[in-house]
Amino acid sequence: MYDVIVVGAGIIGSWTAYHLALQKYNVLLLDQFSLPHSRGSSQGHARLTKRSHRKHYCSELIPEAMRHWASLERVSGTELVLHTGHLTIAEKESTGELISRMKHYMDQNGVRYTSYAGHEIGANFLGMDFDDNFSAYFEDNGAVLKADKCLQTIWKEFLDLGGTILDEEKVLAIKPINENNVTAETNKGVYSSKSVVLACGPWIAEVMRDLDVQVPAQAATVKVHYWKIRDSYSRRAKYDFPFMVYMSGYHVYSTPDYEYPGMVKVCYHHRVSADPDARDRRPSDKHNELAAKRFAVLKNLVAKHLSYLEPEPTITETFLQTMTPDSDFILDYHPLHKNIILGAGFSGHGFGPAPTIGKILANLATSQQQDYDLRPFSLNRKYKQPRL
Ligand SMILES: Cc1cc2nc3c(=O)[nH]c(=O)nc-3n(C[C@H](O)[C@H](O)[C@H](O)COP(=O)(O)OP(=O)(O)OC[C@H]3O[C@@H](n4cnc5c(N)ncnc54)[C@H](O)[C@@H]3O)c2cc1C
Repeated sequence: MYDVIVVGAGIIGSWTAYHLALQKYNVLLLDQFSLPHSRGSSQGHARLTKRSHRKHYCSELIPEAMRHWASLERVSGTELVLHTGHLTIAEKESTGELISRMKHYMDQNGVRYTSYAGHEIGANFLGMDFDDNFSAYFEDNGAVLKADKCLQTIWKEFLDLGGTILDEEKVLAIKPINENNVTAETNKGVYSSKSVVLACGPWIAEVMRDLDVQVPAQAATVKVHYWKIRDSYSRRAKYDFPFMVYMSGYHVYSTPDYEYPGMVKVCYHHRVSADPDARDRRPSDKHNELAAKRFAVLKNLVAKHLSYLEPEPTITETFLQTMTPDSDFILDYHPLHKNIILGAGFSGHGFGPAPTIGKILANLATSQQQDYDLRPFSLNRKYKQPRL
């Protein structure tokens, strides 16, 4: 009998399990695949994090998360966070109040940043060409997380605290017995606990199906492109900071030349619904057409505004994300069973705040007080379409 079973050893489930182990709970962390694996959302080398966010309740999770990342670095003696800063650029007309909203939030919360008029961007960041139709700011606190190292480090620290990890165990059924007992049946055995946290990433809908709850979280593929830095620039400038460009109705994000040295990851936030077990199945013609259009937009943006990069990506990879209709997370109890907890729908921005999310889920699993207003993350909220 465990205190808590956590299903899913991605970044969310792993932080949840680690927080519980720190509080001396007896925890089992289960994953369907042999660990480490490359099939969920948390894999890869780099994720960015920053304080400014379009939604203040997401931004509020970051300071505590950064403290936990730093503490994990300290206890493990492993560097996990690259303190690079982060550049945000927005086309003024099509994004309206976005930049001033985010700056206002940072001003109110004492977040340090430097503003740039569009024409000043190129003078400060070589090979980035924008005019005064854009404006920008550079946040000192922006950072890059070494994603794979983060995961492996948490697992190690969790095991050192006496936690149990069982991989290659797919949870086939979750059975609520009573308010103090729930079982997880896998392909290898049956485990009992007082409560269970489901942090199953793109597989959440499948796991919840037999629990009579429809979770509005859809697995989707995203394409990630790496663009080579032109030789003429690589000797003159450092491209060790991530950036984000907001334009009419879409945004493009990057991570620095860390994952593949000499290449910068620049991606359009475009997702195509997918079966997480068949991510490379050919999408419909309609999806393909849309994907081709968006890739053309991305290429155009690189050609027009990022002259330090070659005009075609050198490497393209496919990853999985889990989207909710409003891109906000779901952190809640099962509506009928308070000892079944859901952490789902991280919509492409769950890695940075994962330590705080893990603590919230750990608190839900052990009925402890929360430090955050969880209403924006409730399962039964009204799902509004996201806006820039
Ligand atoms: C390309 C890309 C770029 C991103 N960039 C950023 C970024 O810059 N900043 C940021 O903050 N976030 C970013 N994200 C989002 C972030 O990585 C995700 O929000 C986060 O990793 C989600 O983690 P998770 O633990 O929910 O899911 P996963 O990592 O998918 O973990 C779920 C785990 O559950 C296991 N599982 C599922 N079902 C079962 C079952 N039945 N039995 C046992 N185990 C099961 C799976 O095997 C998997 O290991 C990015 C995501 C992608 C894909």
